[in-house]
Amino acid sequence: MKRNAAKYNENWDFIVIGGGASGLGTALDAVTRGFKTLLLESHDFAKGTSSRSTKLVHGGVRYLGQGDIFLVREALRERGLLSQNAAHLCKNQDFVIPNYSWWGGYYYKFGLTIYDLLSGKLSLGKTKYINKKKTLKRLPTSTPEKLYSGVVYKDGQFDDSRLAINLAQSIEDAGGSVLNYAKVVDLLKNEDDKVVGVKVEDQITKETFEVKAKVVVNATGVFTNDILNMNNPKHGKFVVPSQGIHLVLDKSFLPSDSALMIPKTSDGRVLFAVPWHDKVVVGTTDVLVEEPEFEPKPLQQEVDFILQTACNYLTKKPTRK
Ligand SMILES: Cc1cc2nc3c(=O)[nH]c(=O)nc-3n(C[C@H](O)[C@H](O)[C@H](O)COP(=O)(O)OP(=O)(O)OC[C@H]3O[C@@H](n4cnc5c(N)ncnc54)[C@H](O)[C@@H]3O)c2cc1C
Repeated sequence: MKRNAAKYNENWDFIVIGGGASGLGTALDAVTRGFKTLLLESHDFAKGTSSRSTKLVHGGVRYLGQGDIFLVREALRERGLLSQNAAHLCKNQDFVIPNYSWWGGYYYKFGLTIYDLLSGKLSLGKTKYINKKKTLKRLPTSTPEKLYSGVVYKDGQFDDSRLAINLAQSIEDAGGSVLNYAKVVDLLKNEDDKVVGVKVEDQITKETFEVKAKVVVNATGVFTNDILNMNNPKHGKFVVPSQGIHLVLDKSFLPSDSALMIPKTSDGRVLFAVPWHDKVVVGTTDVLVEEPEFEPKPLQQEVDFILQTACNYLTKKPTRK
């Protein structure tokens, strides 16, 4: 980005800290409502979680399993809107659930039909029950023993980092400002202890400057506590960080345009194996960590978990080699 501290030295309505999906979305919302908006990102846009997702635009099948209908309905609506507003970055993706019990086909067909219905006019297509033969045609490397049937449902897939860049461009187009490599290192407060701006350190020149705003939004994701600490070091643990990983496998492990969805892993979550740029992305995990890092490392237990779960469902077994 063009860097000119003087350009940012004005009174803003909104300063948004964090250039991930949440911050960029918030800033675009603010600027398109007519507010003077500045977004500050300490690294590159989508440096954090927002470039490392499973790339699904979904309503959250697992939240449906937990009975959180309102959350799923809202997410499905957003899925539909994103597919319309960013059609160049989103595509429809078929997911197949292989059923290894006689009742699985009926159970998941029923549940995912509700998922379709909740998406209303923004539905991406109907859920289908398919027999064993068709399931193996769609997922040629899925384990055939004890396979009864499959359920095919539609969800969205998107390019998360491209979306972040396009959101940043849209903010600028709408008259807002976005600045990367600009780390918020402190909050400015008035005599009533109210936050009135931020102190920024340019990560390229190491110069610092101050910017003022009526509203400061903390959209730093897993780093939220750092900003809260600037406001009040005794704030307590507001966000408990966790990490998740994916393994990227050669396409030969799942040579298909359909994705594999495992609805219940040994730790009670869902696991996806999704085609992505001639590879297959398999994930994810969810492990609590003490301190979040900008370059998190996969833990041995996470890699083992994904390999083991994938081995349970695939005839071509992925290993560490
Ligand atoms: C493994 C995994 C897979 C996922 N898969 C999906 C999926 O398929 N679909 C889906 O919809 N969601 C998915 N999610 C969830 C989704 O990715 C996150 O909810 C989303 O990316 C969070 O965005 P965010 O903007 O809140 O945080 P982040 O993307 O982490 O953004 C926070 C930003 O703040 C910046 N920052 C931190 N400190 C400062 C500072 N002091 N000054 C300035 N900037 C700062 C960081 O550099 C970072 O860019 C997944 C999550 C995980 C962990």
